[in-house]
Amino acid sequence: MVSYLRSLKKPTTSPSQQLLKPAISTIFFLYACLILFAAFLFRPSFAFAQCSIQPSRNLLNTPVNKLSHPVVILISSDGFRFGYQHKTPTPNIHRLISTGTEAETGLIPVYPTLTFPNHYSIVTGLYPANHGIVDNKFFDPNTNESFNQKTSSEPKWWLGEPLWETVVKQGFNASSYFWPGSEVKKPFWSCPKKFCPPYDSTVKFEDRVDTILSYFDLPADEIPALMTLYFEDPDYHGHRVGPDHPLITADVARIDAMVGRLIAGLEEKNIFEEVNVILVGDHGMVGTCDQRSIYLKELAPWIEIPRDWIQRYTPMLTIRPPADESPADIVAKMNEGLQSTYTGKYLKVYLKDKLPSRLHYSKSDRITPIVGLVDEGFKVEMNKPEAKQCAGSLKAETSKSDDRSCAGAHGYDNAIFSMRSIFIGHGPRFPKGVKVPSFENIQIYNLVTSILNIDGAPNDGDSNFPQTSQLKIIKDNGRSECNFC
Ligand SMILES: [Zn+2]
Repeated sequence: MVSYLRSLKKPTTSPSQQLLKPAISTIFFLYACLILFAAFLFRPSFAFAQCSIQPSRNLLNTPVNKLSHPVVILISSDGFRFGYQHKTPTPNIHRLISTGTEAETGLIPVYPTLTFPNHYSIVTGLYPANHGIVDNKFFDPNTNESFNQKTSSEPKWWLGEPLWETVVKQGFNASSYFWPGSEVKKPFWSCPKKFCPPYDSTVKFEDRVDTILSYFDLPADEIPALMTLYFEDPDYHGHRVGPDHPLITADVARIDAMVGRLIAGLEEKNIFEEVNVILVGDHGMVGTCDQRSIYLKELAPWIEIPRDWIQRYTPMLTIRPPADESPADIVAKMNEGLQSTYTGKYLKVYLKDKLPSRLHYSKSDRITPIVGLVDEGFKVEMNKPEAKQCAGSLKAETSKSDDRSCAGAHGYDNAIFSMRSIFIGHGPRFPKGVKVPSFENIQIYNLVTSILNIDGAPNDGDSNFPQTSQLKIIKDNGRSECNFC
């Protein structure tokens, strides 16, 4: 029926037909609307999915179209590894899954599978090499400056156009209840206090959800079209106790409770079926242990790697040698040595331009000239410690010593399954009960702009992705088509 309605918009080829078109179209269109109206009365679910021609609320007692524009709530649960949703009963997450769209085998993060690069890829549709946040901490050789906790709010680091800027640029409000990069000023984004509170990890999750819900009490044209919502869990415990600890199970249950709180609040306002909710994580998590380490000192017979060349040891090894050293020679000697050491086969060192192209991790001076891919669960250290033991994750939990020798990590190759997170979309623009193949999180930018019916900035995602045969985002929820009625 929607395609039929769309066909009414197509121009005719004959001038005489064009003259007749308005009258004919109007008659047919009104007729179609009457049919749809009747269909809606008897089959409300169909009407909801495809067209928003709505009789009065009193007739149906199913109020819809309370919103004057599409709304997306984009939720990130940090470190929510794919599969966590089955650790414990998660009725609310599963409600979204069963009545929405799920990436059946998870959401694929970008490389490196770290928090800052991935959160910013989700909201820009860009790979880290293009959005500039190539690691959680890094050095820019062009400016001799470092990106770190102190400098991370400076706009110069954050390239590309994040969703909140795209939304505001096109005349809507956007809000961010925490998201890496959201406090950074952009040409069209000032991070207004009303919609963009400064990051504070002590704010209760409940308060974050309730604030999001309160935005729906604003006048219709002030309700943000995009609302981001961020939870630190289960990443925090994942690092400390690994992915298989009961603390993670508790975190997952807590996230599910927050999803439930959001759903209940939206239902109370009679807008749950009108709001598009997207639940994602930024990366997964894998257990680590000292017994699976690679020691750079063992390469001494082939090459010495000074500590000050190393930007990050693990879960990716990044090396920036001085300008008078040859990166190619260093890579060759390291790989030669790694072939001869006991755990060397678990680390492969590359000139960044020679990294597998699927990683998209080379075209930025902020990326170090040498990058080592570390196998799942392994870590790189300089020296073999004298007496470290894999003491088990419970020790890490109870000692509070922040001893991460046997806990959890992420940042590895994004082809590793444990690095995957979740994607669940629910709302008027998502097919119900549909599973789609896994996809990279850079596609989410185009997905959101498509749902909001706004033009997006150029990005690395596929502009056709929202309408691909797998995902089949409902192109229009009918509102624009049926405004004629
Ligand atoms: Zn994270």
